[in-house]
Amino acid sequence: MKAKFRCFIGLGSNLDDPIQQVSSALNELALLDKCELINASSLYASAPVGPQDQPDFINAVAEIETELSPEALLDQLQLLEQKHQRIRERHWGPRTLDLDILLYGHQIIETERLIIPHPYMYERSFVLYPLAEINPNLSMPKGLPLSELLTACPMGSLLKI
Ligand code: ATP
Ligand code: CA
Ligand code: CA
Repeated sequence: MKAKFRCFIGLGSNLDDPIQQVSSALNELALLDKCELINASSLYASAPVGPQDQPDFINAVAEIETELSPEALLDQLQLLEQKHQRIRERHWGPRTLDLDILLYGHQIIETERLIIPHPYMYERSFVLYPLAEINPNLSMPKGLPLSELLTACPMGSLLKI
């Protein structure tokens, strides 16, 4: 039997009915081959990162267990983004669906396509608070507790909906 890894996926949308985009993406994650959806956070609303002339975001975090390799998981997530008609325009611009791999077990990965833990997750309230909602005792691959990251990261505009 293949090893299974516990992973956390960050979901975000700020176009074309974001609540519906994120809700349906959670269902689609649950249906992915070789993946099991373990838990999903509430939905959260937050002001955009980067360019401010775009709608607010809806975010959530999902916990999955998977046999897929990190690269194969990224492939599946990018297919789901495409299914949601994501168009890549400007960096950090508006999008129908963004799926980021936040954590993959306790692995540290740095390849051309993939950086895990996700490079900005430690400073993003829309990642850390939903993550804490579903797994408050989580610690990062090098042992840093999530609770410590939260202490250093104000909620800002983040709103649980
Ligand atoms: P940010 O990374 O700041 O959240 P973004 O989500 O807008 O920005 P994208 O345009 O969605 O960035 O992705 C750009 C590339 O990032 C992807 O093609 C992918 O190869 C790469 N990438 C690196 N690490 C990860 C990760 N942990 N999860 C998802 N994509 C990643
Ligand atoms: Ca992202
Ligand atoms: Ca992304």
